[in-house]
Amino acid sequence: MSALPQAEPTSRFWSPQICSLVPYVPGEQPRIEGLVKLNTNENPYPPSPRVIEAIARAASEGLQLYPDPSSSALRGAIATACGTTLDHVFAGNGSDEVLALAFHAFFRHGMPLLMPDISYSFYRVYCDLYGIEPECVPLDAQMRVDVSDYARASGQVSGVVIANPNAPTGIALPLADIERLLLAHPGRVVLVDEAYVDFGAESALALVDRHPNLLVVQTLSKSRSLAGLRVGFAIGQRHLVEALERVKDSFNSYPLDRVAQAGAQAAFEDVAHFERTRRAVIDSRDTLAAALARLGFEVLPSAANFLFVRHRAHDAAMLAARLRAQAILVRHFRIPRIEQYLRITVGTPAQCDRLVAVMAQLLA
Ligand code: PMP
Repeated sequence: MSALPQAEPTSRFWSPQICSLVPYVPGEQPRIEGLVKLNTNENPYPPSPRVIEAIARAASEGLQLYPDPSSSALRGAIATACGTTLDHVFAGNGSDEVLALAFHAFFRHGMPLLMPDISYSFYRVYCDLYGIEPECVPLDAQMRVDVSDYARASGQVSGVVIANPNAPTGIALPLADIERLLLAHPGRVVLVDEAYVDFGAESALALVDRHPNLLVVQTLSKSRSLAGLRVGFAIGQRHLVEALERVKDSFNSYPLDRVAQAGAQAAFEDVAHFERTRRAVIDSRDTLAAALARLGFEVLPSAANFLFVRHRAHDAAMLAARLRAQAILVRHFRIPRIEQYLRITVGTPAQCDRLVAVMAQLLA
């Protein structure tokens, strides 16, 4: 048999823009026996049993057929849970996809997009992909968003994107501050990414009816324990939802498969499970925050399912590596300004206890 031809340098075939892309790097998902996995802000509890039943039913009937392209039943369940109507809801394959479609639909005006300098790093990746210039507004000395730093002359920006609570700090903005942003930029979309809102922040959903420029994005990956199903959604006035539908239907008409639509719908219908698990995570977060503070960590006030902490005397990268050696994963970012912080996802009480016990040994 003749030898396989030498591989061509891949870049010869790439579109020019692809060569300069720096893609997002998600937190690792290793398969290690007994791992305490506190690095990617997943929920430590499984989803509602009703989700599993709905998924099994969906998988056993109709997979030979395409799903509903507009996810109507799911959007109806989301609308009911969020106190709005189906035509104000857009559903996508994880909120990452919803964000990507929104950046494409709303922020390509040839002007800078305002965002915090420390925030969800995927925002800058979308900017790069779509040729949007990010303007990164520094968090203040307490690592907070100060909305007065977002004032600009009318028409000088392409929009604003804010995670509330912010990631990775976990710090939440009050609704009055979100409203100030909306009023400061009436001609542009203000996108509020509420991936973690159910763990303690005020949702901007209450402002949607009054503000035609507000788009709220949420996910089922965190508070509904469905990171593996990939479902996110946006809520805004009809003209914004229609823009997202136009981009979606120019890209992929069926982003949500039958299994995901059925499972996500069931998740919204089991309110008791949602409330119970969300409360358990909030309680563990507060216990963990107190325990880490006792070990000498500065703990930022978190309204999310993670804590952002730094130790006064110990290097964060070293701590992350030593925890890893003991099968505990936390997230460390080699990013200026936050390289001495660790982002620790809130686990079950047993996982949190293990983290605290190992951390206490490391610090001793
Ligand atoms: N927004 C923020 C702030 C996040 O941290 C994440 C999770 N990495 C997402 C959006 C995306 O979540 P998903 O795609 O799982 O819905």
